[in-house]
Amino acid sequence: VYLKSIEADGFKSFANKVDIKFDSGLTAVVGPNGSGKSNITDAIRWVLGEQSARSIRGVKMEDVIFNGTDSRTPMNAAKVKLQLDNQSRTLPVESDDVNIMRKLYRNGDSEYFINDERTRLKEITELFLDSGLGKNAYNIISQGEVESLLKARADERRVLIEEVAGVMKYKKRKKESVKRLEETKDNLNRINDIIQELT
Ligand code: ATP
Repeated sequence: VYLKSIEADGFKSFANKVDIKFDSGLTAVVGPNGSGKSNITDAIRWVLGEQSARSIRGVKMEDVIFNGTDSRTPMNAAKVKLQLDNQSRTLPVESDDVNIMRKLYRNGDSEYFINDERTRLKEITELFLDSGLGKNAYNIISQGEVESLLKARADERRVLIEEVAGVMKYKKRKKESVKRLEETKDNLNRINDIIQELT
């Protein structure tokens, strides 16, 4: 899967509809301070279902809607649409392109779409589960995160490396299996007690 384009309309500083296309390979976004570079990554996090306004540098969710400048009036809604290349079928959808869209209106109403069909946040979260994408995957690394990783203790760093490597999933399954083994041992003991009583 790779990101083909981001369309933003009314999201943060994008008062005019922007359509940013990405080719496979490396893309660099350059611009002066405050010109909206980080707003692009915020848009990606947001459309993937981010529910915390703070994670996208706001106080309340409404802060993602363009709130006007000296020369422009505020907008009533924010919209972001991602287009992903799914030729590899990494996402469990039978289409070469998958688009994800999120809209938020000032009255608090919010809408999600997968391939232009209205859906729920849950469906979007599930779509990205185990795909290595999604808002909790380490696709977007902010400046602060690099610093905190460098400053972290060895055991804290290990947790993150295990998460990225996908080891966490197996650790969780191992814990569940060990618990089931213990329960089975207890059951066996109980059965042996009953057999002893009967013989
Ligand atoms: P830096 O290099 O300093 O990190 P940047 O290019 O990443 O800057 P961003 O932080 O993405 O810039 O953009 C910040 C700009 O977005 C600010 O000018 C801010 O006023 C504007 N902005 C953020 N939210 C909104 C909003 N809801 N409406 C209008 N403008 C907004």
